Amino acid sequence: ASAQIGVTGLAVMGRNLARNFARGGCTVALHNRTEARTRELVEEFGDEGDFVPTTSAREFVAALRRPRCLVVMVKAGGPTDAVLEEFAGLLEPGDVIVDGGNAHFADTRRREAALRERGIHFAGTGISGGEEGALLGPSIMPGGSAEAYEVLGPLLERIAARAPDGAPCAAHIGPDGAGHFVKMVHNGIEYADMQLIAEAYDLLRKVAGRRPAEIAEIFRGWNRGRLDSYLIEITAQVLTHTDADTGLPFVDVVADRAEQKGTGRWTVQTALDLGVPVPGIAQAVFARSQSGHTGLRQAAAALPGPGAEPLPEAEADRFAEQVEQALYASKVISYAQGWDMIRAGSEEFGWGIDLSRVAAIWRAGCIIRAAFLDRIRASFAERPGLPTLLADPEFARELGGAQGAWRRIAAASARHGVPTPGISGALAYYDGLRAEHLPAALTQAQRDYFGAHTYRRRDREGTFHTRWGGDRAEVRTDQG
Ligand code: NDP
Repeated sequence: ASAQIGVTGLAVMGRNLARNFARGGCTVALHNRTEARTRELVEEFGDEGDFVPTTSAREFVAALRRPRCLVVMVKAGGPTDAVLEEFAGLLEPGDVIVDGGNAHFADTRRREAALRERGIHFAGTGISGGEEGALLGPSIMPGGSAEAYEVLGPLLERIAARAPDGAPCAAHIGPDGAGHFVKMVHNGIEYADMQLIAEAYDLLRKVAGRRPAEIAEIFRGWNRGRLDSYLIEITAQVLTHTDADTGLPFVDVVADRAEQKGTGRWTVQTALDLGVPVPGIAQAVFARSQSGHTGLRQAAAALPGPGAEPLPEAEADRFAEQVEQALYASKVISYAQGWDMIRAGSEEFGWGIDLSRVAAIWRAGCIIRAAFLDRIRASFAERPGLPTLLADPEFARELGGAQGAWRRIAAASARHGVPTPGISGALAYYDGLRAEHLPAALTQAQRDYFGAHTYRRRDREGTFHTRWGGDRAEVRTDQG
């Protein structure tokens, strides 16, 4: 046995991860259900490093040094269970299985518990960065036991992306499902960020009357400032691109229906279960869903809009600056919600997730990589108990500074009939958190009226009910 690590499942992700390990100096055992894929990898890339191709699960396991470390990169769901069942029977206590697929964290918890019974470490691991990241350096979020990470950590840190300060973008997240949970929230934040960027583009186009190539230029400018991020960078690239067939801006030939594979939906479903408000992520998931409802859209296409004219040219530049402020502020809100969710999951499942470390490993390699993440890292490092990112003095100051422009943009979007559920929703969240009094008082009073659900008072302790149907006297319900 000579291989330090093995990869089974050699489609795009597995193949590139295996090459990344080999290029980093590891001897990598290879396995795939269909042998041809293993052969092709060795034929095409065999000279990149030391590969040990195998043709059966038994041979694959025999090729691995102990404790064995094998990465499963197969289709998530049933295929992962089938592969785990096959390998578990061939492994020994102390061996480590990494599931690098996009598993739901609840499945990971179940699998980890079952394999733990057999003494096998199961590290459900989030991997972000797509095909290219897998080859050149992804952001890696491993869950599972600390013991497993001792074996696994050095191998993963070797292939991970490097943050600007040189730190590897891989770190132990926490036990059982913690890694896949954090990857799920990463994708939820990604949905929210993409939605906000799309709204900023829409505003620049429809309210400021800018063409895609001009908007690309604006985004390039933003990418040199506090919005510096991979998503802003690729947005500029997409907006510069011209369709070869028609000569039109590429963005104008793509059908305006956004699809989804489900991690955004999982994030929102889980947030509902945990009772943590993540409206920015929910708005983004629903916006994609709404875009795909062709029937609803056709049925509503004749409804009247405001008929507002685009802004005069003299105001367009000023408007673009305000959009930058609104986008930045809304982005801070979305990320704050993402971190609230990670904290809530960590508390619910007892994971002890280090919130600063999550930001640290998202600084490079993953889709939401951004200069901004280093500030989130620093913020949680200085104040691990920070109740929300919005309480960070620097972010609070920036939000306060942006709020004037943010409100003008939300108003302009309503006036011009441009939907901005992300930007306007983020502002509502901001106002909802800072409000001294919320109309939730009225909601709770209504609940007491029709359902005797009781209420608390601002002026004294206790639980109360008003006899709405009778003399309207107040009774205390938490005594005797
Ligand atoms: P796919 O999700 O398309 O899965 C294909 C691989 O799964 C092939 O190696 C295939 O083997 C294997 N497979 C499918 N069913 C079985 C089975 N019943 N038994 C054994 N092997 C099976 O590949 P990707 O590389 O795109 O993704 C791998 C994992 O990584 C997935 O979980 C995905 O969600 C996740 N992921 C993907 C990203 C991406 O950008 N694509 C990014 C991050 C994570 P065979 O060749 O024999 O058909």
